[in-house]
Amino acid sequence: MSPKASSCPICGQPSHAETRPFCGERCRDRDLLQWLGEGYRVPGARSPEADEKSGDYGVDSNPD
Ligand SMILES: [Zn+2]
Repeated sequence: MSPKASSCPICGQPSHAETRPFCGERCRDRDLLQWLGEGYRVPGARSPEADEKSGDYGVDSNPD
């Protein structure tokens, strides 16, 4: 087994020991951002206003 055989999946350069399997922090961050972009969607559509409205619905004013 030779760890030097692995290469950076982003740019193809030899991976660095500290940032395996990437060649450096730049490519590591790049890969991370790709993951975030695909998996996690930044909750920008959701506004704090929605929470306030849901709070109003919590008040039970049933005459029953
Ligand atoms: Zn790279």
